Amino acid sequence: MPYRAKVAGRTTVKPPRRTSLERGYDRQWRNARAEHLEVHPWCEGCLMRSLYVRASLVDHIEPHRDDQLLFWDRDNFQSLCASCHSLKSKYESFAVRRDPVKGRTIVCGPPGSGKTTWLQSHKEGIDHTFDMDELAGMAFPLPHEIHMRMLVARGKVLNRMYFTNESAIIIITDERHARRAAASIGADVVRLRDRKNGGGLPF
Ligand SMILES: [Zn+2]
Repeated sequence: MPYRAKVAGRTTVKPPRRTSLERGYDRQWRNARAEHLEVHPWCEGCLMRSLYVRASLVDHIEPHRDDQLLFWDRDNFQSLCASCHSLKSKYESFAVRRDPVKGRTIVCGPPGSGKTTWLQSHKEGIDHTFDMDELAGMAFPLPHEIHMRMLVARGKVLNRMYFTNESAIIIITDERHARRAAASIGADVVRLRDRKNGGGLPF
């Protein structure tokens, strides 16, 4: 088919030719993808719900946003079926605001507001507890590679929440981040106040 075709009286422009590096990435990605699907043929989102469904694509658990470490990190790959991939994309992009899942809570509030204590006293019967700030290595500067590994660990937590209805208590210090995460994984938000300013009690 010719690239230049008359469309409604206009000439369409041929897309720029990709570099050999870009084409190399394509080939390398195709190979990595095929290898992953061979070792992990079942959709990992469905497996979390004890269903065996053939996977058709390889997804990056933590979005890579062109970061090469995240892109090629096999620990960041998962096999998915088309329907799980589309579900994850909807939650991730906030195209769907998820209703709170029973027993799923995000605890936010400044350092020293008692988030860990709150978690400890409410974790009975809860499937998972996570401190996302710790997982994402937010507390101190880290080498890029370690930071990326921690992002993958954090991504895996959110990922599990997308595909299951398991209960969880998750600590996220920043209230804005907490509310965004709550909208996408379906969680209630508990906001604790700094003890220095009244420990959650109004003045
Ligand atoms: Zn699936």
